[in-house]
Amino acid sequence: MYNISAKYDEFFHVKNHFYFISLFLPKCLSIMFKKIKNKALRIVLSVLTSILGLLLFVFLVFYLAVPSYTYTVPGPFNGPYWHNPYEGMNPDHWKKYNMHCHSRKYFGLTNGRLSTEENIDSVYQRMQYDHYGISDYMHINRHGSERKDFIPCYEHGYGLFRKTHQICIGAQKVWMIDYPFVQTLDMKQHAINQMGKRCRFVMPAHASFTGGYKVSDMKYLSNYRLLEVLNPFGFSFEHWDMALSNGHRVYIAGDDDSHNVLNTNEIGRCFTMINVDDMDPENVYSALESGMAYGVKFNPYYNQPFEMKVDRMGQLPHLTRCELVGDTLIVETSSDLIESVAFVGQGGKILKEEHNVKTAHYVVQPDDNYVRTELMLPKMHYFYLNPITRHQTKTPIDRPCVSVNYARTALLWIGYAFMVGYIIYLVIRKLRHPKTENHED
Ligand SMILES: [Zn+2]
Repeated sequence: MYNISAKYDEFFHVKNHFYFISLFLPKCLSIMFKKIKNKALRIVLSVLTSILGLLLFVFLVFYLAVPSYTYTVPGPFNGPYWHNPYEGMNPDHWKKYNMHCHSRKYFGLTNGRLSTEENIDSVYQRMQYDHYGISDYMHINRHGSERKDFIPCYEHGYGLFRKTHQICIGAQKVWMIDYPFVQTLDMKQHAINQMGKRCRFVMPAHASFTGGYKVSDMKYLSNYRLLEVLNPFGFSFEHWDMALSNGHRVYIAGDDDSHNVLNTNEIGRCFTMINVDDMDPENVYSALESGMAYGVKFNPYYNQPFEMKVDRMGQLPHLTRCELVGDTLIVETSSDLIESVAFVGQGGKILKEEHNVKTAHYVVQPDDNYVRTELMLPKMHYFYLNPITRHQTKTPIDRPCVSVNYARTALLWIGYAFMVGYIIYLVIRKLRHPKTENHED
């Protein structure tokens, strides 16, 4: 269970930010405005501040409306059955996917000015991507929607400094609410739950970047299947191992998160290989759901000319085997040589390493809970495979591990309703008797 004192620590942390924004900041502004001699300027600044205040008030209501959750940690994977996500894979049917890149939007205001849709098409098609999803902020880009394999997606989150963002894959609609300043665990879970109702996958994006997600969050968060472990802004292996070590069956994705596709250093860095016969979105979703995919970190040579990158990408090997034969996990690629292999288990511990092999082997032990494989291929390209996991049943069953605590939520909401009512009362009083308030100042 999630430690209750941690919950209150988080709550007061958020509350302090709001004290600063709602009490201290307006006071400073009002003192500053009084010193401005130009009346017109003073009026303009007052109007702008009022709009900002209203906006902050709306966000305050969003923050306070989040329910309080009770978390159950499933605990390490255990049981007599191993689930191998690569069972039944066809080694000739790998498709290359990127689900996270930004196009020019909002008149170039957001980062993505040079990434026109035409530039994105030409760059990713040249690099032989089978699919590249444009994930603009808070907007589903319909470019390419006439294609049968089109997958609508977007990046969720207004936060600029603490980027607790998510990539919504297979999105029907944008969820417009967000918590852009700081977020408690409840807010992160609530956002995942709400977005999950509106899209097929909610994937925490660049979890390690700017501390958007704490490693410890991953012990409790649930209701998501994909984690963007590979993103050039930050790799999130610690987050992934924390989720896996606590029994959350979460699978890897890798993306470029490119903002300028004309910069060769931003493209073809990280991607996801998905094993599907055809690219019908439903087949892609079911491959992602079952973990029939792996993440690739392509070695970027700084400032390498684009055509050289295209050539090198064409020579990249692929996974040909990940099979559990008896109690031996066997991994092979289309390359004659795997320079190094690491089998990683519970707590992110390295269980075994091998060097310069064609085939990698690991004998699973009775106390192994999950085993995932990392491969370094010639020219320092990396493959990160999804884990094999232990379960009580042949087909893994994911049990719900988060629920709303209605009693605590009701108590909090009654308290918040009084607080918000009091703020409204103060504002109305100030509007009705502005002079009295000025004398008091
Ligand atoms: Zn992004």
